Amino acid sequence: MITATTFADRTVAVFGLGRTGNSAALSLQAGGAEVWAWDDNEASRAVALEAGVSVKDLREADWSEFDELVLSPGVPDTLPEPHWSATAAKGAGVPIICDIEILAREVNARPAQDRPKIVAITGTNGKSTTTSLIGHIMLACGKDAQIGGNIGRGVLDLDRMHSGTHYVIELSSYQLERTQSLRANAAVFLNLTPDHLDRHGDMDGYSRAKQVIFANQTSDDAVIIGVDDDNGRALTTQLKRANGRRIIPISARRALGHGVFAVGRKLTDRTKRKGVFVCDLSDAQALDGQHNAQNAAAAYAATTSLGLDAESVGTAILSFPGLAHRMETIGRAGRVRFINDSKATNADAVRQALRSYTDIYWIAGGVAKEGGLEPVLDLAEHVTKAYLIGEAAKPFAKQLSKANVDHKISGELKMAVLCAMRDALASGSEAPVILLSPACASFDQFKNFEIRGEAFRSEAEALIKMFEAEKAAKSQESAA
Ligand code: ADP
Repeated sequence: MITATTFADRTVAVFGLGRTGNSAALSLQAGGAEVWAWDDNEASRAVALEAGVSVKDLREADWSEFDELVLSPGVPDTLPEPHWSATAAKGAGVPIICDIEILAREVNARPAQDRPKIVAITGTNGKSTTTSLIGHIMLACGKDAQIGGNIGRGVLDLDRMHSGTHYVIELSSYQLERTQSLRANAAVFLNLTPDHLDRHGDMDGYSRAKQVIFANQTSDDAVIIGVDDDNGRALTTQLKRANGRRIIPISARRALGHGVFAVGRKLTDRTKRKGVFVCDLSDAQALDGQHNAQNAAAAYAATTSLGLDAESVGTAILSFPGLAHRMETIGRAGRVRFINDSKATNADAVRQALRSYTDIYWIAGGVAKEGGLEPVLDLAEHVTKAYLIGEAAKPFAKQLSKANVDHKISGELKMAVLCAMRDALASGSEAPVILLSPACASFDQFKNFEIRGEAFRSEAEALIKMFEAEKAAKSQESAA
């Protein structure tokens, strides 16, 4: 745990006692702050109390006593509607921060030579993959790296810092809008497409929140920025004008005059005058698809900007095992490959998967997002047949009929996997893929996307086992 020494003797309100709220409260208490921690949910309060958090009813507090409010990133302070704790804080002129701000102040309080290095990652899509990939590269290159933030551990739960530590931190726009003091030695801004507009009002608001990742950087620091979308390109021009920090543009679509890019799966570094071949992403264990080329380019640029050896980074990228539920290969039954992309809850994410394969037996459905499958129907020719589940099955069937895509309403995931396997095996084609990429939230049939992905994994593994057993029995028969 990181102790919040910079808050000693202050009185701090903490609202939202989830993973990060609890670690913030404990870190503040350890640093000598007086903490009032609260949550609207009784069960969360009970868990926090058990963990030693100082739980006190904020509804009865005198808000003028507080120096700051640590507000859980998921709780709104403006749009769509401010939470009562945010309204109380604002009424009393109490600044609202989050756990990332506490970490930033702790880092800044140390002498410059004792500070850890911070790699911060944001973007609409690909944050978790890129964060994990950067962590993997650093560990493979013998660095002391820890991953946290919006993925895995809350930042104040990370191990105590020293000068050799690298904190690799995934940051959402919600966290960034409550952070003021963070200085990232390498800041990665992957991409920006419309998302979370209910919280940020419009694209401008969303973009402004994300740009906090570049605040406080100096000319020693690096900006790694995806230039495959208009927002990234505009931001690059703006930053170039702003000051002299190192800007490394990245692209998964085209060769750049200056930057890191992947064209035809070949990752190339052109940050120096001459382009240098880094690695062939077709040899990577778990980085299928153009979107993952963007993630790999970003991870390469971030780690080499901190002085890691380019060749070792190239080798480490190839051995990245990938993240569960994001285009994760579960296994094969003969030629049939099972891919779990349960994290793909929106059309943008599904697009990446549909684009990456050509003979797809596609399992989709759940609680649909606005527009349903409409935004991905231009990729319909990659789909051999679709198997629809959950609430969205009927509306999706309608959309697929219009686009002339063969489909079937399976209802349940188990049935969908079984039918897809039967059809894929019967097809006799070269490399069929059974893909769970739902384009939907999971909560009509599963608690969350992880549990949906695990259900897919266990169905797939059972079918693979059965396939292997039948194959073994057949070969025994023919030997006899
Ligand atoms: P995040 O943490 O930003 O939600 P993840 O790394 O968990 O991103 O990936 C979520 C989904 O987004 C994946 O299933 C994948 O289809 C898609 N994705 C991953 N990286 C990118 C990218 N660079 N651009 C667009 N989509 C991506």
